[in-house]
Amino acid sequence: MAWTLNSLKLEYTKSMEEGSLPFLECGKCGHRFYYPRVTCPSCGSSVLEIRRSSGRGKVFSYTWFRTKDGRDYVYAVVEMEEGFRVYGNVEGKVDFDSPVSAEFRKVGDGVVPIFVSLNGEG
Ligand SMILES: [Zn+2]
Repeated sequence: MAWTLNSLKLEYTKSMEEGSLPFLECGKCGHRFYYPRVTCPSCGSSVLEIRRSSGRGKVFSYTWFRTKDGRDYVYAVVEMEEGFRVYGNVEGKVDFDSPVSAEFRKVGDGVVPIFVSLNGEG
């Protein structure tokens, strides 16, 4: 099916409100990606299907920053079980290949994915 950016974003929001991380799969070349686009970044096809991820992935790379009031944040590239990558915040102890699970937080009118480390405390 052919998408518009708006219809994609609506489907993404719905999926996340229902607790699933969405992604797109190209019907031509099979490429999988997260960021909503109406054409495949690999082959340019507009035959794209929305799928739902298991929500499980591993930390591919990460960085952290500290705010002025001393709070630490981790920002990571997470490689999902389905083979696509997502950028997002990770809560908990993080290292390369740390297993993480997607959760969803309401931010303003939208929903955003955040990742929770399954490495346990500290
Ligand atoms: Zn493609």
